[in-house]
Amino acid sequence: MTSTATSTPSAETGLDHLEIQGVKKVFGDNTAIERLDLNVRKGEFLSLLGPSGCGKTTLLRMIAGFETPTDGAILLAGKDIVSLPPHRRPVNTVFQSYLLFPHMNIADNIAYGLKQAKVPKPEIAQRVRDALALVQMEDFAGRKPEQLSGGQQQRIALARALVNRPQVLLLDEPMSALDRKLREEMQLELKRLHTKLDTTFVFVTHDQDEALAMSDRIVVMYDGVIQQIGSGEDIYANPHNGFVAGFIGKQNFISAEVASTDSTTATLRTANAVLTAPTLTLKPATAAGEPRNLEVGDRVRAAIRPERMHVAPAGESSGEANTARGSVISYSFLGDVIQYMIVVGDNDEILARVPAAGREPISAGTEVELSWNADAVAVYDREPSAVASLLEGGA
Ligand code: ATP
Repeated sequence: MTSTATSTPSAETGLDHLEIQGVKKVFGDNTAIERLDLNVRKGEFLSLLGPSGCGKTTLLRMIAGFETPTDGAILLAGKDIVSLPPHRRPVNTVFQSYLLFPHMNIADNIAYGLKQAKVPKPEIAQRVRDALALVQMEDFAGRKPEQLSGGQQQRIALARALVNRPQVLLLDEPMSALDRKLREEMQLELKRLHTKLDTTFVFVTHDQDEALAMSDRIVVMYDGVIQQIGSGEDIYANPHNGFVAGFIGKQNFISAEVASTDSTTATLRTANAVLTAPTLTLKPATAAGEPRNLEVGDRVRAAIRPERMHVAPAGESSGEANTARGSVISYSFLGDVIQYMIVVGDNDEILARVPAAGREPISAGTEVELSWNADAVAVYDREPSAVASLLEGGA
């Protein structure tokens, strides 16, 4: 957990601070990471996001030095670090379990790495004070870890990593043991630290809200493969494949068949409605596929975000291109929005989110008119069943 405190990388202003080049990781007959390329910019907050088993922790552990790539190179400020043991890499990791030494007080926990690196005592004392101030825990230096709450212990784990002045801070689901309120506080804390420090943060999470709230860029992973890289806004607005469309944010997927196309739009027939989609592009199910032109007869999934759905009393026209008659199954008041579950036809369950301000919720059992603009519809290839089961719950 210690690191050499290298302070001035020559590529300080270079865009690609951490370069992962053709990295692959195989455990026995299981390929955890397919050949993967990823460049992380200096000072960036980058999140690795994906479902359990997608390979995000393995990738992080290879950057940290706890796993060795089967193939490929990992460059930090232009130098390959693959042959360096973890404690010789200018990176530090904060883990989900805080891993504080129970018999040492907080100051000694934070000082541990610096002592190992034989940093002079007065400097250690100053850096420990600075690290405690950074996480706003100055008054806790003399306590033992057991005398701190979970959130406080996680702050100390952060201070212990940052005291080494790593070039890259690796965070492995650091907040998953905290309750929701604390987690939100720690998210703000981490953002504050990141802004202040100009250190590169690589953050592993399976929680899309956490990734969206904090990251400059998000790397969405599935099955050892990068599915998409981009800002949260980009990925949400323009998912490149069906996996990303379902994994980031809520999504209504409706099975459909392409009935006709003209020069710009496609007409899709579902079990219960006819949809207009403003596209002739069929996006793939995962990054393994390629986009292609839609053809009449293609069996596809139409995707519509819940907030793009309008809900009105039955018979009321909204003037939108797409409409369907349904019945409210239930609604939840979420503060700023009301979320409806609406059944269309026999069993198409549609999620709709409408602004709550000034509206009375529509009660369960009421017949309603659902409508949505044509440009709310994206079209994806039918997914492999493994992807479908992962996306269950995405409506
Ligand atoms: P989680 O969110 O559950 O931690 P993850 O996305 O971080 O999941 P990894 O822990 O990186 O996923 O695991 C990726 C794949 O590699 C999984 O199939 C896992 O079983 C396998 N794997 C990870 N570590 C080992 C190991 N030491 N030996 C064998 N297989 C491993």
